[in-house]
Amino acid sequence: MTAFGGNIRNYIGGQLVDPLSGKYFDCENPATGAVYAQVPDSDARDLELAVTAAHDAAAGWRDMGAQARAAIMHKLADLMEQRIDDFAMAECVDNGKPLSLARGMDIPRSINNLRFFADLGTQFRGQEFTSEKSFSYTLRQPYGVVATISPWNLPLLLFTWKLAPALASGNCVIAKPSEVTPMTAYLMSALATEAGCPAGVLNVLHGRGAQIGAAITSHPRIPAISFTGGTVTGRGIYQAASAQLKKVSLELGGKNPTVIFDDANHDLSLQGAKMAGFTNQGQICLCGSRILVQQDIYKKFRDEFVAQVKEISIGDPLAPDTLMGAMVSKQHMEKVLGYIDLAQQEGGKILVGGNRRIVQGRCANGYFIEPTVIEGLPAQCRTNQEEIFGPVVTLMPFRDEDEAVEIANSTQYGLAASIWTENSDRAKRVAARIDSGIVWINCWNMRDLRTPFGGMKNSGVGREGGMHALEFFTEEKTICRPAA
Ligand code: NAD
Repeated sequence: MTAFGGNIRNYIGGQLVDPLSGKYFDCENPATGAVYAQVPDSDARDLELAVTAAHDAAAGWRDMGAQARAAIMHKLADLMEQRIDDFAMAECVDNGKPLSLARGMDIPRSINNLRFFADLGTQFRGQEFTSEKSFSYTLRQPYGVVATISPWNLPLLLFTWKLAPALASGNCVIAKPSEVTPMTAYLMSALATEAGCPAGVLNVLHGRGAQIGAAITSHPRIPAISFTGGTVTGRGIYQAASAQLKKVSLELGGKNPTVIFDDANHDLSLQGAKMAGFTNQGQICLCGSRILVQQDIYKKFRDEFVAQVKEISIGDPLAPDTLMGAMVSKQHMEKVLGYIDLAQQEGGKILVGGNRRIVQGRCANGYFIEPTVIEGLPAQCRTNQEEIFGPVVTLMPFRDEDEAVEIANSTQYGLAASIWTENSDRAKRVAARIDSGIVWINCWNMRDLRTPFGGMKNSGVGREGGMHALEFFTEEKTICRPAA
């Protein structure tokens, strides 16, 4: 295994290399506040090397065929699986998330992303159309070289979620992980050559969004970009890419409602709202940060929810019983604490949490925030409209289905929602009326990787998942001849 910590390196043309500038910046362990690695501060010159390497490899990777590509992707998945504990530890240290979560969710799902798309790529095909006059068929052809840009909250999971369909559909990739959490992408890149990945097929560039990210977005030889991150960043990428009519897929922010009806299973809905609110410290785009509760059960639900949230164990991400670890960075912790202040200025009442948590021992300088529940705020205030992306949820009562839908749909976002009710007709009615890319009924974050995934409104453009991702990374060409 490549050393964990120290200098991270770019992976270009099959080699681990230093950035041409020789410049690096610090990478912190957010649970301790200590600098533990150095991140390449890559720039346009590094990108030029990567783009050239990728273009040189493009025809070979395309013509190799889906089966041979799948074999290499499975081999990479095998190598990662053999080191699964190292990857989980790296994700935990880099991001601050509980080791149990990294080991139980992030890394297994990252490995599965590679395997899932490797196999799906072998099933990918064009269409055929016959008429009295003509016979037509379509080819699905890769772009050649594409880019992926991913965020820090699920670092390897989202890195592979984009990378895998790009590779499986026959593209060479320039991949930029978040500069806040670069470690697992680096460790994975260090295994690519051993997995049999030809030089130039996968290129991983580390560095700051405003520098290397922006260079990728505007590069004329990268015709398609798949981005996951914040809505403001995504809007900027959309604008920059539109000048060259690049194909863009955007997976952006959310302000997701958890809607609890008075006929919901009480225990399951409490558990579901808690998971949706606080998993990964509330730093998942799908987290349910607005909990809407039907008014006749509001008080009972609120009191038991608050009692359960008080029990959430927060602290050292390495401890096996930790449910909430550290926020990803000092800067992000301060942003979230700023929102808690704002909520109070807006008249919100904090029922539990509300503060930075100082953890004793080795994590005394870490960036922890207590799980926080707030009530008494109107749907239209900033706290209920803006994405906080932390362990902060609000509780709001609602009268009936119409009001629940109205509040649920009242933000600029439309990524995900969960509905809790034992009435299946009501569940179907409300699910159809909520403006979001996915609606869960009596569950949260249950995923079938074949289903379309993406956001309505300002939560995104396009859909990932299953064939949708393979379609994004290919051009469809129609070939037509007279009928025989
Ligand atoms: P971010 O937008 O700050 O950064 C995401 C990526 O974009 C990083 O790799 C960053 O370096 C890069 N970047 C930044 N500026 C850039 C620029 N000008 N040009 C090109 N690239 C640039 O987001 P983040 O803070 O890393 O992640 C949190 C956000 O991601 C939240 O808003 C969350 O909702 C969203 N998110 C969405 C999904 C989804 O599937 N919809 C999933 C996870 C996270």
